[in-house]
This record gives sequence, structure tokens and C-alpha cells, in this order.
Amino acid sequence: MKNTITKLSPQVINQIAAGEVVENPASIVKELVENSLDAGAKEIIVTTQDGGFTSIQVEDDGFGMSEADARCCVERHATSKIHNIEDLDALSTMGFRGEALAAISSVSLFEIKTSDGAGATRVIADGGVVSNSEPCARNRGTSITIRSLFYNVPARKKFQKSVGSNTAAIKRTIETLALAHEDVTFTLNGKTFYPTSRKNRVQEILGDVEIEVRGKNVTGYCASPQRASGKRLSQYVFINRRPIFSPLIAKAVKMGFSTRIGEHEYPRFVLFLEVAPDSVDVNVHPQKKEARFKDEDAIFRLVQKAVERAFIQDLPFEKEISFTPTTTSFSESFPSLPFKVEEEDLDFIYTDRALGVFGNYLLLQKEGLVLVDLRAAFARVLFESLTPDKSQCQELMFPVEVPLERGDEEKAEELSKLGIECRILPRLLVVDALPLFLEPGQFPEFFKNFKAEKRLDRAAINFCRNTKKQFSLAEANALWSQLKKCQDKMFDPLGNRIFVELKQEDFAKLLLRGNSCIKPE
Ligand code: ADP
Ligand code: MG
Repeated sequence: MKNTITKLSPQVINQIAAGEVVENPASIVKELVENSLDAGAKEIIVTTQDGGFTSIQVEDDGFGMSEADARCCVERHATSKIHNIEDLDALSTMGFRGEALAAISSVSLFEIKTSDGAGATRVIADGGVVSNSEPCARNRGTSITIRSLFYNVPARKKFQKSVGSNTAAIKRTIETLALAHEDVTFTLNGKTFYPTSRKNRVQEILGDVEIEVRGKNVTGYCASPQRASGKRLSQYVFINRRPIFSPLIAKAVKMGFSTRIGEHEYPRFVLFLEVAPDSVDVNVHPQKKEARFKDEDAIFRLVQKAVERAFIQDLPFEKEISFTPTTTSFSESFPSLPFKVEEEDLDFIYTDRALGVFGNYLLLQKEGLVLVDLRAAFARVLFESLTPDKSQCQELMFPVEVPLERGDEEKAEELSKLGIECRILPRLLVVDALPLFLEPGQFPEFFKNFKAEKRLDRAAINFCRNTKKQFSLAEANALWSQLKKCQDKMFDPLGNRIFVELKQEDFAKLLLRGNSCIKPE
């Protein structure tokens, strides 16, 4: 029988491999610009024609190549960046496979001019085969020009998207790399990003970023929740300055935004993670877009908490954490009560992961899921802040005035003994300081309950149970952390439980056939 097996030529092997590395013109731009960054370039000029199909040129002022390197860089597995497999664990460059130039040159007309400062070389390759190499004139750095992309693989060309969408993809590629290298000048088809601060660079590319994330290994910027988008396009993640695609991290950021954005909205953000090179494997995808973390859960929590913290630090506390005015007529004339969040509050918030507010309940994740009855918590906090000798009241900027009816004076007197600072005038009660969580606008309602009930515990419960207040997540968090400082954290003043915790085993029991309190329809 005739032998039908032949060995493929290196050129054909490269052309096949090119399918993985060279998906489209934007992926070529990415490879070339990453090489320039790996070469320490401080200025990179990219020029493309017809979405890259007619030509792509990338010029840099990096350390260039010697004559010998210039000739062999188009060969497959030719790299200066790693020498053995262990080097992968300490990788600091973007490239390492030595595949890109071989793949790109195999499907184009390829020209490289490069100088390492000692001498300059020009190498020409057609379809991956070096056809000419000669000395030339050039300052230190490298220029690579790709013409007639896919000229020898017409099938590949047929499956390419339009010039317009490739032009847009190239723009995004440059913007992405520019985000992580604010110290480098990038020019794309005449538009230049000059070296600047990271924040300025992010703003040039993403627009306003109001929220700054400042974690230990995570830094970055987010646009305010109002500017969230219906698409995921404005989400950028970098690990050690390398752009990656990570649904995991995008989700963690979204969780950090909590209920501030809707279910189908996506925050705009740029996030930079700095991790030990050996805690992440970027060697997963040929385009190196996806990263695999050794400890996904730890990364998730790290990012989520950093974003949560950014909100608490950057939004004015008054707005985010104090109670918003209620519907009584007092509310407009009195600013809501600002109170300070202390360091230990933050710690507490961060060890319990707040998942959201659900009606009058706060849902937290500790060991299990914790459901906090916010009104009961409010009653406990209010009750304990009204203890005669160590009441916790905050002075009001504008005193609250409540008309006194006949016989009310006695009750007003009692209040003042509980630590609510007030003055009793003829037919008028003037309140100068209130407990932390009681808003000025709520005071008249509280006073009504206080007059109607002989006991403070009942008054607190009645008032809190009937409040129309809707707690925001930040308010609920603050209340929960205040509850932690109470003497009795478990029960409201009338002895009802404030929260329940359900562990995994409890859920399992709940869901066991016959045991369930939730009957399937
Ligand atoms: P990799 O980046 O994975 O090493 P490439 O095929 O992209 O593989 O590049 C091959 C080699 O060519 C690189 O390792 C580097 O030594 C050299 N090289 C490519 N582009 C440049 C450049 N702009 N400046 C200096 N050297 C470069
Ligand atoms: Mg490379």
C-alpha cells in the first residue's frame, strides 16, 4: 500500500498554529505591543490600515535585538524570555511561548527593523520564510510591519469580521494595555496617550471614576453605580499588569457593589491585582487571556471586600450610612444625623459578608447565613443607648422642637433623665441631642410612643416595629455593627430574637423530604 503519512513543513505547522495565536488583527497588535512592553519601551507607536488587514506597524524604543536574534525571532519557539519550565513560575514578561512572531510572519508579509544600540538589522520574511536580512539604519528599538495579512490563507480571511469591528477591537486592545502602563506613551493612528498618573489614564479611557479601590493587593477605580452599564464592556482586570479575562473577578466586583446596582447592570471598573507569580497560572489559554488562581475563593473575597471598603471610605458617611430623613414634616428642615464609623465597625462589617437587605431583614454570610430582623436590632440599639448614666447621644446641629400638651412635662423630664438632652419650655420641648440611630425627623413619633407607654422597652419596640423606615445596606451594616456593642446582642428589649443563623446542615434538614416547612407547589 502507498504510504500516505508525510511530515508537515515548519511553515505549514506555523500556519496551523497561527490559528490559535493570530485570531484577528487586534490579536496581532496585542502580541506586538506586548513584545514592545517586554522590551522596556517607553514610547510605542501603532499604525494600522483597513482594520489591520492591509498593514499593521508597531514601532518602539525598547532594547531591540541583535542581528542574530532578529533573524531567528520568526522561528517557532524562539524566545528570550524563558529557558526552562521553572521560569514560568517567576514570569514577569507578557510573552514566553516564542510563538507569536513565528505565527504572525507565517500568514503575512513581515518586516522587522531593529537595533540594540550596537548595530541595526532589517529582516524580511514572506509567509514565514526569511527572504532577506541586511544591515540598516535605526535608533535603538524595534519596528515591525505586517502587510497583506492572511494573503496565503484565504480561508482564514473569509471568516474575519468587518474592517470596522477590527478597527474597534484594535482600539480596545491599545486602550487596555495603556490602562496598565500609564508611564508609557501610546499612539494609535495619530491619537496619543501621554505618560500620566494611573487615575488620569483611567479617566482618559473610561471617563469619570469616582470610587477608588485601595486594598493590599487590589487597587483600581470604579465609576459610580449610576454609571453602571447594561454590558460588560467597560470591565478591565489586570494581574501583575497583564490584562486578563476573569468572570470570577467581575462577579466579585459586582458583589462589592451589592444592592447599589441592579441585577442586569454591570459596574465599570479597572482593577489591578498584584499577586505572587506562582499563585496564578496564566498559562491556560494560548492568548493568555484567562487566568487560573490557586485559591479562587480567597481572590474572590479579597476583591469583593476591597470594593465594599471603597464605598464606605469614599462616599460621604452622612449620605451613605446615616439614616435618611423619614416622611414626617420635620425631615426637610433637619439634616440627617451624621455619625462616624469607627475602625472596629469596619472590621466587624468585613468579617460578616453582608449580602443584601431584604425588606426589613439584613442577610449576612458568616459561617452560615444570618438573617437579622432590622427593626428588632434597631429597638435593642435604641433601648441600650438610652441608659441614664452612659447614654450615647449626638448633639444636633439644629434642635428639634416638639409642642408639649398639658401633662407632657413629666414625660419630657423622664426623657432627659435617660440622656436625651432637652429643654422643657412652656408648651415646648426643645431637643438638643439624640441617640445615634434616632433621626431628628423620627423624634416626634418616638415621643408619642414614649408618652403612650409606661416602659421604655415597650416604647422602643412599638416605635421601631412601626417605623416606615427602609434600611439601606450601609445603614443595616452600621446597625448590625452597633448591635455588636450592645450588652444583649441576641434579643430585642421584649425578649424576641434579633437574628437567626442557618448553617449548611440546617438547610439540608429543611430541604429533606417531609421535613420541609416550605411545601413545593
Ligand atoms: P515571546 O514574546 O513569547 O518570547 P515572540 O514570538 O512574541 O515570543 O517574540 C520572540 C522573541 O523576539 C522575544 O522573546 C524577544 O526576544 C524578541 N522580540 C520580539 N519583539 C521584540 C521587540 N519589540 N523588542 C525586542 N525584542 C523583541
Ligand atoms: Mg511575544
